[in-house]
Amino acid sequence: MRHTLCAICDTDRWDRPLHAEALGDGAFTSERFSARRTPDRVHYRMVRCANCGLIRSDPVLEEAELARLYAQSHLTYAQEAEFAGETYARYLREVLPLAPAQGRLLEIGCGSGFFLERALDLGFTEVCGVEPSRDAVEAASPRVRDSIRLDGFRDGLFPEGHFSMVCGFQVFDHLVNPNATLQTCRRILRPGGLVFLIHHDAGAWTHRLLGERSPIIDVEHIYLYDRRTMARILVKNGFDVLRVFAVRNRYPIYYWSGMAPLPSGIKRGLVPRLRNSALGRLAVAWNAGNLGIVGCFNPEKI
Ligand SMILES: [Zn+2]
Repeated sequence: MRHTLCAICDTDRWDRPLHAEALGDGAFTSERFSARRTPDRVHYRMVRCANCGLIRSDPVLEEAELARLYAQSHLTYAQEAEFAGETYARYLREVLPLAPAQGRLLEIGCGSGFFLERALDLGFTEVCGVEPSRDAVEAASPRVRDSIRLDGFRDGLFPEGHFSMVCGFQVFDHLVNPNATLQTCRRILRPGGLVFLIHHDAGAWTHRLLGERSPIIDVEHIYLYDRRTMARILVKNGFDVLRVFAVRNRYPIYYWSGMAPLPSGIKRGLVPRLRNSALGRLAVAWNAGNLGIVGCFNPEKI
């Protein structure tokens, strides 16, 4: 296990305990590190930085071990992907006027590439994805399969100034080195290019109300951001924050029930039954506690 520091303050000086470790035996399986799985209250010890408010897991598994778990993780969300893609595309349409051009778009952690197809539909001339899970990449449609690199996102994969937009959906709070990732984004973006991220908002009332029972208190999350800490880490890495907003997700009722703070035993019985019923497949939209943020690469900032 590896000790972590606040990604904004670069120190553990102001740490306050938030939740005791709840890992148990066999916490680290590729099933548990699969995207959009049903949360099961397994998590690291969590602390909050009293200086900036950023929440983080500490200590966490070594980075190489985490990379191995994500590489072996499975694609378990084929049906939900359609709904997620619809939501992300809706917000992409709103963000487009802020981009310097509809040139090349990169998605970090693109899974089966369901969003990349939407980006092509919206007029991007070229799309690229990076995804560590072989299972997910193999499920990609022929239209985008060759545009996806089977790898973890890192320096050296793409030329400098190559993209007009870099996206990440439910990815950023999984990153061990968010500052390094944002610096890599800077290098591969053209000046004025955008980062566009959507993920959990630790400051949303749903998560504050549920506390440790919130689905975001989960072993997959290294850092948990709210609107303010998310804006701070973008500014720290030389981005101008153009927009921060609450995200309204639309998913079938069976998916929402999997995320609900119910005992695992009840969910194991309930979710498959809802999945097979007309009521359970009904799609419902609400603000479940996600944020979106758009940052613009300002080359004059270090
Ligand atoms: Zn801090």
